[in-house]
Amino acid sequence: MTEKEEVGKSLVFPIQGHDTCPHCGCEERIYQSQIKTMKENGEMDKELFPKGPVEARPLFDQSKPIMVSQLSITNPKIPIMMEYYDICANPKCLEKYTTSIELIWQEIQIPKAPLNLGRGGQQLPPGFPFGQR
Ligand SMILES: [Zn+2]
Repeated sequence: MTEKEEVGKSLVFPIQGHDTCPHCGCEERIYQSQIKTMKENGEMDKELFPKGPVEARPLFDQSKPIMVSQLSITNPKIPIMMEYYDICANPKCLEKYTTSIELIWQEIQIPKAPLNLGRGGQQLPPGFPFGQR
């Protein structure tokens, strides 16, 4: 079996990305150094951006409403792909690269309304994006 055939079959999160620029090898990162400077100057809370900037993409099919049961104790969860990235600080490179990828399961907060049994039970607010069956 070649290495190529295994790609995609054995994804285990979190996936460790690049520590240094894969293009030029530069160790300096633009976001990382800017965030560090701002924290040192007290311009940013030290808890923010612990792993650098991140793009979060919820992965769900909007045509398939998530089941919401009144009797369910736990809220439904949707998978969110977290892509941490940075930009090479070499001014001749400036390559954007991924530093790590995580997959998290985010619990959806369902509004808890009092049960109103005589009138069709719990109602979700109008426009609630996930639907109800
Ligand atoms: Zn670079």
